[in-house]
Amino acid sequence: MRVAIAGGGLAGLSCAKYLVDAGHTPVVLESRDVLGGLVAAWKDEDGDWYETGLHAFFGAYPNMLQLMAELGISDRLQWKEHALIFNQPEKPGTYSYFRVPDIPAPFHVLSSIATSNDMLTWNQKFRFALGLWPAVVRGQQYVEDMDKYSLLEWLRRQGVDEGVNTDIFVAACKALTFINPEDVSATIPLTAINRFLQERYGSKIAFLDGSPTERLCQPIADHITQGGGEIRMNAPLKEIVLNPDGSVQHFLLRGLNGQPDEIVTADLYVSALSVDVMKVLMPTPWKAMPFFQKLDGLEGVPVINLHLWFDRKLTDIDHLLFSRSDLLSVYADMSITCKEYEDPDRSMLELVLAPAKDWIDKSDEEIIAATMAELQKLFPQHLTGDNPAQLRKSKVVKTPRSVYTASPGRQAYRPDQQTPIANFFLAGSYTMQRYLGSMEGAVLSGKLSAQAITTSLSAGTSATSEPATPKPLAPV
Ligand SMILES: Cc1cc2nc3c(=O)[nH]c(=O)nc-3n(C[C@H](O)[C@H](O)[C@H](O)COP(=O)(O)OP(=O)(O)OC[C@H]3O[C@@H](n4cnc5c(N)ncnc54)[C@H](O)[C@@H]3O)c2cc1C
Repeated sequence: MRVAIAGGGLAGLSCAKYLVDAGHTPVVLESRDVLGGLVAAWKDEDGDWYETGLHAFFGAYPNMLQLMAELGISDRLQWKEHALIFNQPEKPGTYSYFRVPDIPAPFHVLSSIATSNDMLTWNQKFRFALGLWPAVVRGQQYVEDMDKYSLLEWLRRQGVDEGVNTDIFVAACKALTFINPEDVSATIPLTAINRFLQERYGSKIAFLDGSPTERLCQPIADHITQGGGEIRMNAPLKEIVLNPDGSVQHFLLRGLNGQPDEIVTADLYVSALSVDVMKVLMPTPWKAMPFFQKLDGLEGVPVINLHLWFDRKLTDIDHLLFSRSDLLSVYADMSITCKEYEDPDRSMLELVLAPAKDWIDKSDEEIIAATMAELQKLFPQHLTGDNPAQLRKSKVVKTPRSVYTASPGRQAYRPDQQTPIANFFLAGSYTMQRYLGSMEGAVLSGKLSAQAITTSLSAGTSATSEPATPKPLAPV
């Protein structure tokens, strides 16, 4: 079965990989000249990598880890000490560690909270544990039900001390979703906490040993082409052209550099586009269908990824760091954490600026200046005084619409991978899967989309080698 997949991010690649494994022939159509979407990376004029985002992998990413194992590339993950590390704003240049001991879940996380005494008081820890109790006892259904509250509302309802919010959750929410606790659905951090509590190595963090484009996306692409599939770059979807009955007749690609537009036909079609692009390309007859109308409730969140190359080392910490700064979210010294970016003498800090809505339209110079001012608080010993470290060069990558904005109530708008159109499926980290907008969510969504395709084929509800027999359009 030939399946045309628009979008060569992790969701599109994962969908194509699992379709190849099931004996189908996917063709991935990626608009840009680089694979990976939100994990895409490029080399600058000096040969240094810069990326769309600083990406951390977690032990609680079963589908990503399985995918990498299937491709024989698990050794490309550089696992770090099992700990979460936070900057201490009130003591510039110092850190708080939540070290997670290698003992069974959930005692590993509870022990790490109990033994870290420089962030939360015993009273705060006790009230936090009490607040979490319903999630522990009632499980994921309770966590899903909390989507109606922002995290801040949920913390207040549970009587959790505001200090827990400012000490931990501002940093955690910015890292997970690029927005603050007053704006994020309680379901998102509670899902992460649940995974961390239930899985012994769930909160263990790894970095890829090089750029995601070369070290992660390329092996998936190679697997797809070796299995008979196709990857086409510079192939932007312009229009989803429909049959009179509302099913997909073909994908129309925009011709580049004066070339004419091109028709791509297949037995089945998948959108692995971001939700914002999918909404723009939505065929008019589908806009009246409740299934597709739900997408109006979703929108990508702005985020900025920064790369700062210094003339000396600023830290020796080989880990992800939670900055606990208003401007910044997480960061890492990639000259230490990532093998291919290694530099024994000089730091390259990669930092996520979030929330970014007030910064996305500002110039790179303004963004770098504000970040450097913030870094003086994080690294006073290196960036102030007589001989401060010098910034050699910098790179700013802005993404005005990245993963879906995980505000309260969004779970109801996340669509299934199977659509009411029999020969059309969705993939993408915004679609419904049990992880948030993440690499794990993207890989899982692609796998679920491939599963929906194979299931509908075996049930005879989707296209056969004959022209597709679409389900009728759902009533409005
Ligand atoms: C700054 C930042 C930091 C992040 N940090 C983490 C992290 O630490 N851990 C984690 O798990 N996740 C992280 N994420 C989230 C993660 O990167 C995404 O959830 C995931 O990569 C989304 O994959 P996707 O395939 O669903 O979507 P996308 O990556 O958006 O893929 C969509 C693809 O469609 C292509 N496309 C667009 N228009 C067209 C068209 N007309 N025709 C054809 N193709 C088109 C795009 O070029 C893109 O390749 C981060 C994201 C960012 C931006």
